[in-house]
Amino acid sequence: MSSETMLDSSIQQKVEQFKALDEKICHFGNILGLIGWDQRTGAPKKGRALSSKARGTLSAESFQLSVSEEMGQLLDTLSDPAIQEQLDEVTKACVRERKKGYDRSKKIPANLFKEYVVHASNATNLWEEAREKNDFSLFQSALEKTVEYQKQFIEYYGYEGHPYNALLDSYEPGLTVEKIDPIFAALRASSVELLQRIMKSEHQPRKDIFEQDYDIELQKKFNRYILPKLEFHSEFGRLDETVHPFASSLNTGDIRITTRYLQDNVRSAIFGTIHEVGHGLYEQGVNPDYEGTVIRRGTSMGMHESQSRFLENMVGRSSEFWTYFYNDLQSYFPEQLKDVSLDDFSRAINLVEPSLVRVEADELTYNLHIMVRYEIEKGIFSGEIEVKDLPRIWQEKLEDYLGVTPPNDTLGVLQDVHWSQGSFGYFPSYSLGNLYAAQLLNTIKKELPNFYQLIETGQFSVIREWLRVNIHQYGKLYTPGELIVKVTGEELNAKYLVDYLEEKYSKVYQL
Ligand code: ZN
Repeated sequence: MSSETMLDSSIQQKVEQFKALDEKICHFGNILGLIGWDQRTGAPKKGRALSSKARGTLSAESFQLSVSEEMGQLLDTLSDPAIQEQLDEVTKACVRERKKGYDRSKKIPANLFKEYVVHASNATNLWEEAREKNDFSLFQSALEKTVEYQKQFIEYYGYEGHPYNALLDSYEPGLTVEKIDPIFAALRASSVELLQRIMKSEHQPRKDIFEQDYDIELQKKFNRYILPKLEFHSEFGRLDETVHPFASSLNTGDIRITTRYLQDNVRSAIFGTIHEVGHGLYEQGVNPDYEGTVIRRGTSMGMHESQSRFLENMVGRSSEFWTYFYNDLQSYFPEQLKDVSLDDFSRAINLVEPSLVRVEADELTYNLHIMVRYEIEKGIFSGEIEVKDLPRIWQEKLEDYLGVTPPNDTLGVLQDVHWSQGSFGYFPSYSLGNLYAAQLLNTIKKELPNFYQLIETGQFSVIREWLRVNIHQYGKLYTPGELIVKVTGEELNAKYLVDYLEEKYSKVYQL
């Protein structure tokens, strides 16, 4: 036997060992996902504490595997440049992803991380209390401590350029302050200006359409009716109810999405469901050969959000979408919609209204809510902003961009759970999702010139197939930066979202 084949077979053995370990961690993840889904949907209240404990145990086991000595040694061997050359593309991507997680976890001293986990859970409780009592000062010192921990983590992780880059990297690998700043600046300037024109327009959409009650049972029926039409089929997916909607995937054949129904807000369930279908189809469309590997998920938070927002906004809020579905909706709600034309309806679902709360914001002002958070986070980690000043800075920025003033902390700086959980660097993903989505829209319209005709005639399978082939199938094989260039031919930029918003609202508001 030549030495070359000797080497190959020993590498082969390491690869098999790595794959087995990778798969084991994925299986833990599947079960953890299932318990998580259960706790947020149907689990009886009384059993939840015990389930949480079981979840904690499994989660610790899974974490231990991912930072184990065995994993460390395998990653060491398989990241060797000479050996990398011999690995296939999929194994290489799996090694890259596992190594990233391994290195990041290993960089933080175990004791410091333990201390932080205890602090973070207390901080979330204090945030809840502060929110209830409408008083930021009750949360301030906990948040200051969270920021101190995060600043230490940043030093351990290491970074180039802005310190905040170290945090951004866990949600949107490869994107940095240096890249995001000019994109967000262009989007912010054009959005603020467009918003001012919209507010002055004499052609405001009707608001009364949605200021009525819509029977919840009928809302459920309508949602179940549109799911298969949007290619979300019961053989691989299910829809349940929850308080804060989410999508969860156990494997490519088991996708679970959730929604919530509000009697006085029919839009919430319809567009919330379409949004989660977008997330669900992404996970369902990943190449089934990646099952049991770390790359069997969407490639980043931002790219995931692009899939949900593409379906919710670019498809679901188009007038063509309602050309196809409006008669059906009217037949479910004949009383509420009897004097509402298709045009009235299509414009009303695209109403723009500056508001205080991010999660209720429309497609245009949503990004401005994100800018407020992004700029604050950046300022915190560069040392330019202090936690104690957050309520004031929040208010100033909101007035600047949206022209609204929060009457209190609960509707202002305390509204989001993210900071209480130490999730700094997460917020930009939402706007990145909108940016990716608009850039993809530009490409899909070129490759499927009958894009809007397909929507109008309910041929969603063609659109879904395009997304599957171009985005979904790859999972984490490519980084988001590589993927967007591969599909659209250029790096992420603001142009397409800026143009899309201008075109859309010029029509809705007759600007
Ligand atoms: Zn989402």
